[in-house]
Amino acid sequence: MVAHDIIVVGAGLAGMRAAIEAVRNGVNAAVVSKVHPVRSHSVAAQGGINAALAANDSWEAHFLDTVKGSDYVGDQDAIELMCKEASEDIFELDSMGCLFSRDERGYIAQRPFGGADFPRTCYAADRTGHAILHTLYEQLMKYSVAMYEEWFVLSLAVEDGICRGLIAIDINTGKFHRLRSKAVILSTGGYGRVYKNSTNALINTGDGMGLALNSGAQLMDMEFVQFHPTTLKSTGILISEGARGEGAYLINSEGERFMKKYAPKAMELASRDVVSRAEQQEIEDGRGIDGCVFLDLRHLSESLIRERLPQIRQLAIDFEGIDPLKELVPIKPGAHYSMGGIKTDVWGAANIKGMYAAGECACVSVHGANRLGGNSLLDAIVFGRRAGYAASRYAKETVLAEFPENILKDTAQGVAVVMKRVNGEKVADIRDRLAFTMSMHVGVFRDRSRLDAALSEIKKLKEKYKNIYVEDKGEIFNTELIAVLELDHLLSVAECIVIAAINRTESRGAHYRMDFPLRDDKNWLKHTLLLKDGGGIKLSYRDVVITKYWSMERKY
Ligand SMILES: Cc1cc2nc3c(=O)[nH]c(=O)nc-3n(C[C@H](O)[C@H](O)[C@H](O)COP(=O)(O)OP(=O)(O)OC[C@H]3O[C@@H](n4cnc5c(N)ncnc54)[C@H](O)[C@@H]3O)c2cc1C
Repeated sequence: MVAHDIIVVGAGLAGMRAAIEAVRNGVNAAVVSKVHPVRSHSVAAQGGINAALAANDSWEAHFLDTVKGSDYVGDQDAIELMCKEASEDIFELDSMGCLFSRDERGYIAQRPFGGADFPRTCYAADRTGHAILHTLYEQLMKYSVAMYEEWFVLSLAVEDGICRGLIAIDINTGKFHRLRSKAVILSTGGYGRVYKNSTNALINTGDGMGLALNSGAQLMDMEFVQFHPTTLKSTGILISEGARGEGAYLINSEGERFMKKYAPKAMELASRDVVSRAEQQEIEDGRGIDGCVFLDLRHLSESLIRERLPQIRQLAIDFEGIDPLKELVPIKPGAHYSMGGIKTDVWGAANIKGMYAAGECACVSVHGANRLGGNSLLDAIVFGRRAGYAASRYAKETVLAEFPENILKDTAQGVAVVMKRVNGEKVADIRDRLAFTMSMHVGVFRDRSRLDAALSEIKKLKEKYKNIYVEDKGEIFNTELIAVLELDHLLSVAECIVIAAINRTESRGAHYRMDFPLRDDKNWLKHTLLLKDGGGIKLSYRDVVITKYWSMERKY
């Protein structure tokens, strides 16, 4: 049986950063990833990563912008840590060899981003995630960290409230493996694929959140789903906020820069929840075309686009047949980011001993009800590092326990049942219906009747899932089976989102209830906690950590 001190699930920014910190602290760490490490969704991050580097900027200003962006439900102790530690982490990435773009003085270049009062987003053209992920991967190789790539984690080995490892399937051979460890760090990324219109990779199916929930861990703030304002009409592919940061406009079918009605000061660089709602409003009021408004980059110089936004220009040409140098780009809001996730403390610890989480699958919470662009890569790096450190300290004080064998038996049995079934429900049908339902009913604008409709459909789909089968009965690279396993998590995550959204009877950040259009600080300045309870989900609430800023009206 494979054994390590720490097993990190996920090879995105959070997972890799966690593993590096763990080995630096003298423990034996391994990384498991269902895809080759540099195919993790972090590689697609375009616009940048935030840190107050300039002499006339400060971590305090970053802190205030983030608290305001979160619509005051981000925990201020965690936000403070993230903003304070940001610059050290950026300089470290730089010294590891990450190729950040430079300004004319040779300093790391920074661009304006939504919801920020200062241009503090560091970038590598519009391929920032790519630059950082590859840099970290080099470090993992330098430290010879064991890497189980194209291994899919099926279940966590939690016994007596302690996590002692996990079960994974080697996708290449179809064989099950027990991986024994003192601690597990989940860094499995987001769940964007629960929606039809999504900027996320096909692999973003909320596995870590599902695994944690199944093992008795708490999730937090699942109702807060970020919709990015600029995703391509036909595919949902992201056009980075960097485009607006560099000066692109948003216009409606009448050629009007409509943001002046919604955020007269910040205009296109208001926070994402505000811009997405404004776009949706324009579209619903008949000032869109074909379900879209437009991003206008035509006034930007060709050299600027070639230098700072080369990838998004190419994406628009390849996937929409439109050259932003000359034409308007049709865009609409699309599901983008999971503010909620596995509840952790500021050291990444979940409420199960030996279980840690970091990155998009975790909820510390630094983003509250709405994440600022550029703060997610930062969250992944800062809290990935912290989780790696805390887990290594825990591992040093812990003895490697026996692996709970029944977990392998139960997991294998569950898979065998699906493999043996010769007819029933098909994975693609359920997955499509789920994604369609979420996009229809749990989008930018929500209300009780739409949310109820979504919940009842999810319950039906969960019933159907019990009779799911696969046509591919092979062991080698059975992607149909993997899709079945992912769908289980998509269904759990969707249920959590909808239940939490039904209960939050106010509008805050990305959660906008048409039947409760106002923010209600008196009753709702709190986090939603979700726990699996028998067949259902139990909700409870906890207060927001407020250290400095009481909530104010949020204006951009
Ligand atoms: C198109 C796009 C652009 C973005 N641009 C920006 C940006 O400019 N700035 C910013 O701050 N944020 C951006 N974001 C958000 C940011 O990129 C992500 O939140 C962040 O990269 C997540 O990192 P992560 O390490 O948590 O997870 P990921 O990078 O998503 O990695 C998840 C890992 O988990 C593994 N995994 C998942 N499930 C399993 C399983 N069951 N078994 C084994 N392995 C598993 C995967 O293989 C993968 O290695 C963007 C997001 C998207 C989609």
